[in-house]
Amino acid sequence: MKSYLVVGAGLFGATFAHEAAKRGHKVKIIEKRNHIAGNIYTKDIDGIQVHQYGAHIFHTSNKNIWDYVNHFAEFNRYTNSPIANYKGEIYNLPFNMNTFNKLWGVVTPEEAQAKINEQRAVLKGKKPENLEEQAISLVGTDIYEKLIKGYTEKQWGHSTKDLPAFIIRRLPVRLTYDNNYFNDSYQGIPIGGYTQIVEKMLANDLISVETGVDFFANRAEYLKQYDRVVFTGMIDEYFDYQLGELEYRSLEFKTEELDKDNYQGNAVVNYTDAETPFTRIIEHKHFDFGKGDKGKTVITREYPKTWHRGDEPYYPVNNSENNTLYKQYRLLADKEAKKVIFGGRLGQYRYYNMDQVISAALTTVKNEFEE
Ligand code: FAD
Ligand code: UDP
Repeated sequence: MKSYLVVGAGLFGATFAHEAAKRGHKVKIIEKRNHIAGNIYTKDIDGIQVHQYGAHIFHTSNKNIWDYVNHFAEFNRYTNSPIANYKGEIYNLPFNMNTFNKLWGVVTPEEAQAKINEQRAVLKGKKPENLEEQAISLVGTDIYEKLIKGYTEKQWGHSTKDLPAFIIRRLPVRLTYDNNYFNDSYQGIPIGGYTQIVEKMLANDLISVETGVDFFANRAEYLKQYDRVVFTGMIDEYFDYQLGELEYRSLEFKTEELDKDNYQGNAVVNYTDAETPFTRIIEHKHFDFGKGDKGKTVITREYPKTWHRGDEPYYPVNNSENNTLYKQYRLLADKEAKKVIFGGRLGQYRYYNMDQVISAALTTVKNEFEE
């Protein structure tokens, strides 16, 4: 039996630890924050599960992953249907017949398609090579200007011309009156919050957890002490930024408790103009159909910001320059493969959703224990 150190008690680290312990291996997890669960951490305020690090909606088309995560929590039937507020005008997201009707007065899918075709003609048939071109090609110039450009440039701190097209393809475009933000077969929010999922994953006598501990405070000792290390922090930090910094996007969350039942009438409202400094307001009680103390609600504004060392690196910025640098770090990581596994959103520098993180962790488990 090998001894494992897992760095980071987020979803990747917890899934790996759970599976390793199930196979009889001893696992120590260290986490630099003062709580487990990484970015999926939720906590109870006024009977409301507050998503401390931004709105988290579980969605997947992978039945195995859906079944897997359902072992650790019961999910409600929440369907994400965000609203966009552009200077006081309200539109449905993702881009669908309700959006097109409000914007253009069109009623049928043919009318909407004709309008989109007319507007995308500015591209003159060019294959989209960046986020701006991809957005115009999908939904035309009006939606690009009102609902995409301002939001995206705030969110990423780059011109839409310098961002990869795949980021906007995360959002469905539909010629139906369907406000479901995701196309996936399964979707929901765990009743009682996300933290319990990680708690249950780690509930094994072979797993010990220490929070408030930074791997880098004692790196050499840890590497000596354990047979294998699973590292879910930033890959460039692990290598002392020796090839240069990868780019991340950070966020500031400002949370308020309000003495009212209902602040905005929806869980997620995006502010898509360039001037409003935050991207979205989340009203947490609507993730669970208004449950919580009467006369109370909790909201969070999300302010994107440039990442500097010491800030929380919430998003990898997967443009081609950063991906090229990541590949160079990957070569360094390959040289350490006998000792260290790099995993998760930061260790693999990928814009992973939760289901993809679990799936990647289970693949790592398979490679580690079944080959
Ligand atoms: P993390 O959760 O970041 O865990 C890594 C942990 O490692 C952290 O707790 C960190 O503190 C710790 N760590 C780092 N370095 C060290 C160190 N040196 N020593 C000790 N500990 C260390 N996904 C969805 O599927 N649906 C959504 O709706 C959704 N919404 C999101 C909204 C926001 C604002 C963000 C930022 C992400 C969202 N995600 C969503 C993505 C989801 O959060 C991630 O896929 C998932 O949480 C990543 O898990 P992880 O274990 O890779 O990383
Ligand atoms: N986006 C946008 N307008 C919106 C919502 C999203 O332009 O109202 C774009 C933006 O570039 C964003 C991307 O679509 O970064 C992906 O959105 P998603 O909701 O998946 O982002 P996340 O929840 O991961 O921050």
